[in-house]
Amino acid sequence: MTVELLNTGSELLLGQTLNTHARFIGRRLADCGLRIARQTTVPDGPEIGAALAEAMSRATVIIVTGGLGPTSDDITRDVAAALLGRSLHFEPDIFERIRERFARRGLTPPERVKVQAMVPDGAEILPNDHGTAPGLYLVDESRPGPPKRLYLLPGPPRELNPMFESHVLPRLRAMAGPPLPIRILRTIGIPESHLQDRIEGPLRSQFPDVEIGYCARPGEVDLRLIGRDAGLVARAEEFAARDLGDAVYGTGDDTLEQVVVRLASSAGLRLACAESCTGGHLADRLTGVPGASAVFLGAAVVYANEEKTRQLGVPPELIARHGAVSAEVAAAMAEGCLRRTGADHAIALTGVAGPGPGTPEKPAGLCFIAHASARGARVERLTLPPDRPAFKEAAAQVALDILRRALMLCARGAEKSC
Ligand code: ATP
Ligand code: MG
Repeated sequence: MTVELLNTGSELLLGQTLNTHARFIGRRLADCGLRIARQTTVPDGPEIGAALAEAMSRATVIIVTGGLGPTSDDITRDVAAALLGRSLHFEPDIFERIRERFARRGLTPPERVKVQAMVPDGAEILPNDHGTAPGLYLVDESRPGPPKRLYLLPGPPRELNPMFESHVLPRLRAMAGPPLPIRILRTIGIPESHLQDRIEGPLRSQFPDVEIGYCARPGEVDLRLIGRDAGLVARAEEFAARDLGDAVYGTGDDTLEQVVVRLASSAGLRLACAESCTGGHLADRLTGVPGASAVFLGAAVVYANEEKTRQLGVPPELIARHGAVSAEVAAAMAEGCLRRTGADHAIALTGVAGPGPGTPEKPAGLCFIAHASARGARVERLTLPPDRPAFKEAAAQVALDILRRALMLCARGAEKSC
């Protein structure tokens, strides 16, 4: 079974809408051990026909998204019917459902909406509980070779996602073999190419039948292992995890903040942070984790120097002597945060977020991150991307990793007082 995905919509190519269907469908298929062999995005209009014909020449399952609406650029159903040599007929039941949806809002459906009740002969209707246009499932057995299966799904994600889950996935799952075992190790602190240099040779020689992949995201890299034998993939994962040690922060869907909250929870430790340059982004990530309230006391967003003094007790002379972006001030912020909140671990960030050039001594991208616990404070000096969103993301990422490593040390009992 070869699956292709055809996303239609000019807005996807104009950069106005992110193609979340490719991600959602790709992910859900991968969970079932299926893969999209090729994904194509085409603008609204005649390109859809050409792309669909091409996809049908290669794949046995073609999923098409978008263009089932009532407007003149919604031509997917006509194009598919023409390609399969099917006529369209009016389905009164579909129209009745559409009419009811409109009536609930006190409206009568405009004439154009009738097109959504047009169905290619022989198509199965996939009900849409969140919108007007139903999905369509067509099987074409008119060509030599295996049947071609076409799923036509509406564009709006809130309509497509549930429809895909309840009407498409079960059918594909039934046709597919058992899912391919896939394991993901989430790593931090090793650049992508270094990670490959370090792990790929040993992995390949020990596990030649395991496919290795990488996915780099800001500040972290996933190592993906896929194979036919679940035991073999698990052993490859264990091997890689052992080799990479603390650089592996989690597996599967783990996020760094989840891991930090989990470590703090299981050790019964409380966290707090003091944020200047990240403006609360670190706290936002931590509070995005369900259960964070058990471990996270709070954050002080101390952008102005006076606030560093008022909220954290950082001496004004220290700021005057070293500047707000300095190791000394970062340490004083973390210590002040620890003292004033009563947390077991505090983390503080101060830096030059950019995009301006900063000064020669303190260029944009410079960041100090301090960690304080009962054992005192430690500061890291970093050079991060001098662009605000990227800077904030990277700074929060490193701060979380510093916390993670500190909490792991506690868990290992390496620190007497944690
Ligand atoms: P409608 O009845 O709303 O016209 P449709 O089936 O014709 O539905 P489109 O017109 O192609 O679908 O898209 C409807 C909405 O869904 C638009 O807001 C579009 O940006 C969004 N959309 C379409 N395709 C995608 C996609 N691949 N990823 C994310 N959003 C999408
Ligand atoms: Mg449309």
